Amino acid sequence: MSIAENIARVRQQIDRAARRVTRNPDQITLMAVTKTVPPERIREAYAAGIRWFGENRVPEFAAKVDAIDRSDARWHMIGHLQSNKARRAVDLFDAVDSVDSLPLARKLNLRAAERQKKMPVLIEINIAQEASKSGLGPDSSAFEDLLTAAPELASLDFQGLMTVPPYSENPENSRPYFRKMHELFDAIRHRRLASVAMNVLSMGMSHDFEVALEEGATLVRLGTAIFGERPPVRSNR
Ligand SMILES: *Cc1c(COP(=O)(O)O)cnc(C)c1O
Repeated sequence: MSIAENIARVRQQIDRAARRVTRNPDQITLMAVTKTVPPERIREAYAAGIRWFGENRVPEFAAKVDAIDRSDARWHMIGHLQSNKARRAVDLFDAVDSVDSLPLARKLNLRAAERQKKMPVLIEINIAQEASKSGLGPDSSAFEDLLTAAPELASLDFQGLMTVPPYSENPENSRPYFRKMHELFDAIRHRRLASVAMNVLSMGMSHDFEVALEEGATLVRLGTAIFGERPPVRSNR
């Protein structure tokens, strides 16, 4: 299957999943995740209409960014970001969807201010509180502290939440986590916190995005379903 065919297929799947729960498919964002994907295949996805892209690692994106025509595409950092790469991330990316600590948020804010940029961000939640994953615990004081500090972080634009639930072959196993994320998202929105908007709920990957959409995701992040299987990873950083 070509990349264009894969994209057409996932758009149909998104459409059907949205309609099952009477949501408007036009309000759902499809992000293509391009880790390990070379620029020529990224260009194919762009030609097939993709405008939202996600990358996991700053050095990998830095190495291929010059071969990519940015034009009207949006590039989001979606992997764990070390504070010492905050400046590079602010320079390279249009948004950081994986803000997982207040110190990182402060660093990004400082670097964005230096560049006179307002950086859109999502807060990453470790919804199952897995030791192996980054992200803030949904009930943690660190999460609360970050929400409270948002008004001081004037160069960041807090737009919502992101999560990666525990992997399971069966996408139904992700459903309780997606549901919990949606509840958290709604609860925070209802608090109407200063400088914290809750418009984006980024959850769902190739194997479980239909369930994520049924449970309220506004943005799904698809790699394998668009570009095919990735080579095995050597390291997760
Ligand atoms: C790799 C990755 C994805 C996409 O994963 P697929 O299973 O290939 O769709 C989505 N989100 C994050 C944070 C990722 O690291």
